[in-house]
Amino acid sequence: MVTKKKSTGVRGAKSRATAANRANPQTVQSAPYKEPGLMKRLAMGAVVCAEGYVFELERRGYLQAGAFVPTVLQEHPEVVEQLHMDFVHAGSDVTQALTYYVHREKLRVIGREKDLEAMNHVALKIAKKVARKTQTLFAGDICNTNIYDPNDSKALKQVARIFEEQVGWAADAGVDYIVAETFSWGQEALMALDAIKKYSKVPAVVTFSIHRELTTREGWTAAETCRRLEAAGADVVGLNCHRGPRTMLPLLKEIRAAVKCAVAGLPVPYRTTEEQPSFMSLTDPCCGGRRAFPVGLDPFVVTRQEIFDFGREAYAMGIKYLGVCCGAGPQHIRALAESLGRRPEGSKYSVDMSKHAFFGTDQKIKTVQTEYQSRL
Ligand SMILES: [Zn+2]
Repeated sequence: MVTKKKSTGVRGAKSRATAANRANPQTVQSAPYKEPGLMKRLAMGAVVCAEGYVFELERRGYLQAGAFVPTVLQEHPEVVEQLHMDFVHAGSDVTQALTYYVHREKLRVIGREKDLEAMNHVALKIAKKVARKTQTLFAGDICNTNIYDPNDSKALKQVARIFEEQVGWAADAGVDYIVAETFSWGQEALMALDAIKKYSKVPAVVTFSIHRELTTREGWTAAETCRRLEAAGADVVGLNCHRGPRTMLPLLKEIRAAVKCAVAGLPVPYRTTEEQPSFMSLTDPCCGGRRAFPVGLDPFVVTRQEIFDFGREAYAMGIKYLGVCCGAGPQHIRALAESLGRRPEGSKYSVDMSKHAFFGTDQKIKTVQTEYQSRL
């Protein structure tokens, strides 16, 4: 079970370092506090990773839903930096470079291929700045290419090239580890892992997505895919995106039982169901049963409490690399961190109803107000 004492995590480590600073500044000067890497942190407890930035940026008005390419990197880099800061403030242990969908194929689709390298560099530079400033882990990111086709050898070469160049840029930027995410094909995830192993020397976190059907597109179960990824040398394996907490948890349980390495679980913050297990399959009864994805998902957003419960349950199950994907806001990340017994900076503002105008329990709240509760 998760207890406050047990799950110190980064913030615990950080406050210990601060205490050491005060106690003996000279010792600290000669041996500065050094952040443990990803694998050390996972050995100590959970790692919280905010991702799915493109949805939050869309909500903030700086990214177009559809192509979902973060051109905001060049148009408003300050917005991306603030987003990273907001997620760290909320409890993310990781600052993951916004290189999701900043690959050759996606930029080709929007006619911006010439900006490929510059955009990757900007994303890595911003994330590194925030990571070093906040002592969070600095992660690189590669993802689904949308051109993977097992029967198209030309496309497979392009996929390999996409992974090679993005891993190379991330490695050059000095990332602490690389995330490969959101693959629908297990084989594409294996190709991404292969590139991380070939073109970098950092740990690989490989997560993929399970849509409505309970297998990857080539028909592998989630557990089987993870076994293959572990055998191929992935350091952390698991699921991200597409499924909400309720429909991802049972699969995480199967994965945990199937592999020995660390397991990752990063659901989308939406109320997916057995009938509609992925956020792309959700339909909204209020709007003629139309598909809610991507900009009609608001009524399906889970509460902070639901993310808190997910965090508790997943960690108790042995899932240590935890996060929330597309749709995640800082409130979700903070709830996830709190589910692990942590108090990130943002927890200063976590709900406290004791001084509420009508529901408050504080003596300063007048009974003329509290007596009116049932009529509100
Ligand atoms: Zn996502």
